[in-house]
Amino acid sequence: MAWIDRAAEAVAAEKDRLTRLDSAIGDSDHGTNLHRGFTAARAALQAKPPQYPGAALVQVGMTLISSVGGASGPLYGTVFRRTGKALGEAEKVSARDLAGALADGLAGVRKLGGASVGDKTMVDVFTPAIDVFTARLADDASTADALEAAADAADAAALATIPLRARKGRASYLGERSEGHEDPGAASAALLWRALADTAPGGAR
Ligand code: ADP
Ligand code: MG
Repeated sequence: MAWIDRAAEAVAAEKDRLTRLDSAIGDSDHGTNLHRGFTAARAALQAKPPQYPGAALVQVGMTLISSVGGASGPLYGTVFRRTGKALGEAEKVSARDLAGALADGLAGVRKLGGASVGDKTMVDVFTPAIDVFTARLADDASTADALEAAADAADAAALATIPLRARKGRASYLGERSEGHEDPGAASAALLWRALADTAPGGAR
């Protein structure tokens, strides 16, 4: 719940930047889409506090699917819903459990949207972030350190979408004119990873 709170704050603070990125290679709605979605997700969690972490993430996913339009609503909704479903009804979730569940969430997005790494989408950020998170935990890093490294990888991966040509979503209609711009969904995915790192036990906040 702290993660979603922080994510909602970060999306609110960066709403204009996300929309500016989407105005270059999309239809200028990514910031407002996500702001509406995370505001609704946070309100839903507060109105009806879930019993366990998996239920919280399923609820966030359902709220994003119903409140965010466009491509990113169903895609982000799927990440959270599938991650939550993978956590099931466990009352305690370890960092390794979360890493495994997020990998399920990413698999759901890849199945729904058909994007691979390098297609200039949120998948470009989730993939290395989950890989780094998982690898650091396997090396016995603390949860906070593993998530910090994952958030750093996410930031780098978002910037690495700049030179790419979009092969999925609305930006792909632009062909080579999509080159030279950061993908808005990659940028928002990096915000979500930073929010998770900042709210981890022992994290920056
Ligand atoms: P829309 O494109 O419908 O206006 P948004 O602007 O909210 O939706 O979100 C656009 C973002 O969604 C893109 O920047 C990209 O990261 C992501 N996206 C679009 N299509 C796909 C896809 N098929 N798979 C994964 N992510 C995608
Ligand atoms: Mg858009």
